[in-house]
Formats: sequence, C-alpha cells, structure tokens
Amino acid sequence: MYTIRQIQSWLHKKERSAVEIAQEYLDYIHRSEPHLKSFICVTPEVALAQAEAVDRQLREGKPMSPLAGVPIAIKDNLCTQGITTTCASRILANFVPPYESTVTARLQQAGTVMVGKTNLDEFAMGSSTENSAFHRTANPWKLACVPGGSSGGSAAAVGGNQVPIALGSDTGGSIRQPAAFCGVVGLKPTYGLVSRFGLIAFASSLDQIGPFARTVEDCALLLQGIAGYDPKDSTSLQVEIPDYASLLTPDLTQSLQGKKIGVIQETMGAGLDPEVAAAMQGVIKHLESMGATVEEISCPRFQYGIATYYIIAPSEASANLARYDGVKYGLRAEAKNLLEMYGKTREEGFGAEVKRRIMIGTYVLSAGYYDAYYLKAQKVRTLIKQDFERAFQQVDVLICPTTPSPAFPAGSKTNDPLSMYLSDLMTIPVNLAGLPALSLPCGFSQEGLPIGLQIIANVLREDLLLQVAYAYEQSTPWHKQPFPLLG
Ligand code: GLN
Repeated sequence: MYTIRQIQSWLHKKERSAVEIAQEYLDYIHRSEPHLKSFICVTPEVALAQAEAVDRQLREGKPMSPLAGVPIAIKDNLCTQGITTTCASRILANFVPPYESTVTARLQQAGTVMVGKTNLDEFAMGSSTENSAFHRTANPWKLACVPGGSSGGSAAAVGGNQVPIALGSDTGGSIRQPAAFCGVVGLKPTYGLVSRFGLIAFASSLDQIGPFARTVEDCALLLQGIAGYDPKDSTSLQVEIPDYASLLTPDLTQSLQGKKIGVIQETMGAGLDPEVAAAMQGVIKHLESMGATVEEISCPRFQYGIATYYIIAPSEASANLARYDGVKYGLRAEAKNLLEMYGKTREEGFGAEVKRRIMIGTYVLSAGYYDAYYLKAQKVRTLIKQDFERAFQQVDVLICPTTPSPAFPAGSKTNDPLSMYLSDLMTIPVNLAGLPALSLPCGFSQEGLPIGLQIIANVLREDLLLQVAYAYEQSTPWHKQPFPLLG
C-alpha cells in the first residue's frame, strides 16, 4: 500500500494518525491472512499501543524518526520480550522471551508499529517456508507457489501489502531469495553491521538480520534504524554509519557514469531459467544505457559455495541447537529418566530438516572427520572470499540473478532436499564472504512471477549497493507494478 515517506508525510501534516494507519493495515491483514498466512501471530494490541504512543509524541511536538508510525512485521526468530517467539519450531512453540533483541528494541525506540511475528522455515533452515512446524505461507503473486525462505513470511507480508516493511534474517540467502520470489527489495548487510543479539542462532558466523521493503529508499531507512555497534554482540562492528537515504540523490536516476559493474560469469551459464537469463540481459543493457561500464568477471570458486555452506552451517547449527534439551526452556517431553527426556524432547520438538542438519553437523565435527570436512570447508571459504576480493579490485559492484528460477510450486521440492538447497546457489557465497548484497525486482516471468536481481558490494559498501539499486529501480518500471491485493 504505502511507503515510509507517504506515512511520514501524513503524520507530519496531521492528515492521518498513526492509529488510523495501523488499523487500516490490521484490517487488511485480517482479510488477507486466510490466503497468505504470512504470520505466526498477529499482535493488534501491541500495534495499537505503539501507534497511540507515536500519536502522543507527535501532539507533543517531539522530533520523530522517519520510521515513527510505520507498521512492521518481524520474523519469528527475533526475540520480542513478553511476546511468543517460536522460530516456527514445536520446541519453542510456547517460548516467551524475557528480553528484547537489539534490532527490535531500536525499532521500538524509533516508533515503529509491530503488527506481528512472521512465519519461517523452522530455525531458518530452508528455502520455501515449507519447513515451518505450523503452516505454509503462500506467494502473493501466485498462491500455489512458495514465497521462498527462510524469511518467507516477512517477504510475503511486504509483497502482499500487509506491511510496508519487515525484518528477516539471512544465513545463506534467506532475505534475498524470498525478496526475489515475492517481488520486493531485501538487503543482507555486511556481517557485523547489524547486531545479532536476540536473534535465535542458526549458524553464527553467517547469520545477519536485514530489511525487507517495497522500495530501495524504504530499505535504506529501515537499515538505518537497525545498523550500528552493539556491545551485546561480540561480532558487532564499531564503524560510523552513513545516512544511507540521503545518498539516494535524484542525479543517480539519470546516470551511472563512471560506475564499474561486474557480471559474475559463473552464474550466467547452464541451469539458468531462460526467463531469468533474458531478464539479466535486459539489466545489463539498461545499466550500460545509463553510462555504467559492464564487464564479465569470473569468480571460479563460486561453484563450491553450496558444498562449503552445507558443511559449515550444519556444524554451527549442531552446536547452537544443543541448548534445546528440555531442561532450561522450551518443550519438555514426559519421560522416565533424564536421558530419555533429552531424546524424546528433541525427537518430538524438531522437524525433519532440523534433525538432518544436526546429524550432518555432528558428523562432520566428530573426531577423525573434522580435518577432512570442517577444516577443508573453512579453507574453501577463504578461497571464495579471495575471489570476491579480486573482483572488487576491478569493479565497484557485482551483479547476478538472485535465484536460478522464479518461485516454484509448493510441494515441488519438499522430498528432494538437494534440489531445494540449489535454489541458494547465487546467494550463499555472499554469506561465506560476509559481504553486503541486495535483491530487487528486475522483471516478471510470463506467468507473472517476479524475477530478482542481486547486487553485491564490498565489505561495508552498503552506500554503493543502495545507490546502484536506487539508480536501477528509479529508471525502470518494475517498482511501479502494483502488488497483488488479496481480500
Ligand atoms: N536456504 C538456506 C538454508 O536452508 C539458507 C537459509 C537462511 O539463509 N537462513 O540453510
């Protein structure tokens, strides 16, 4: 429906109140949820109380963040104090966090209005949101298709008009892939730019929280609200945060003169859906017409991304998920003794994909296999990073499709984990290297499904990433395509 600027302008001119806007979104969520099922829980009381607080502050003439009064959906792997946080898992189905994640605390401070917690693949493991222990989320453009994953609920909520902005997390593509499938903008920040405190850990060396929005500018505004040093996260970077939105100037929409853009050669070959390939050719022509220099760049180790990721991510997951033992919190199964209780709790509490990852991770970390698998994977990770470092000596940003194909039908990959894993082919190497990357719409398939363009920048170059994305977005028609209305 609306962008952040639109909402901000209504509030400042006193044309509409934050409560009215929140109520409009809540009503629409109520009507569209039976079709989309983006949410695990909708929180109207929280939303209306937060909106009232914003209206009060506006009446008092307090200076407000651009995010004040803007409805937002939060992926349900971010801890919200006093509000159930399930990670879409039976093991956490009744978990009410006693503390707030840093990102949601910062957004509360900025005055966002939380309308609910969104669906995901259990523990963020998956690419279609079909691994949720609760329900499947639909793709707003075609209900029989998946919204992508693991942040499928957040992407579908933005793409389906239920909220202007949302938060997701991205370990191997979980913001960018669903953003591509749902026709919205999604950004994975540089590792360490956004605090992970209160994000339920999947693979700690890869996880990053990031924004979903309708437009690049909104994405910049939401990133601004969550980025920055946090002493509660030991991997948080102590860096100056630029004013991202102010860098998106009108001249960019006319010209990209002087910018060097590399197309990752390894992503453009066999296996790419012909409609995605055609959309990429259109992107290249368009960027050239704006004055950018576009050249092919080889990242020869890109192809080892998935193999490397499926050693490293399950290893970290098996360690992180050891804490769900039925003792401290979460589900506890009835049993005769302690050992049986551990076993039954994990047996009943975790779904098949989570168990698969715990088993792979435990195996590759075990004595005798550690060197052969885990250590080897870490070495390949370094080589992948070096490919990117070399590329950024030649170009400002890299581009490639976000996904090899548009959204696929629900159920079509659930029995074939390997083919599901392949949908993250283009996004995973970026997490392994800790780089920032963004997905934005660059076309539609004949069936009317969105196609995503991924732009990748060097470490901490979110400024450049957003500028190139903004230039492309504002000079092409894709962002003007109205999002589907459901109900
Ligand atoms: N789809 C990938 C996986 O299943 C990435 C998930 C993510 O980024 N959280 O692990």
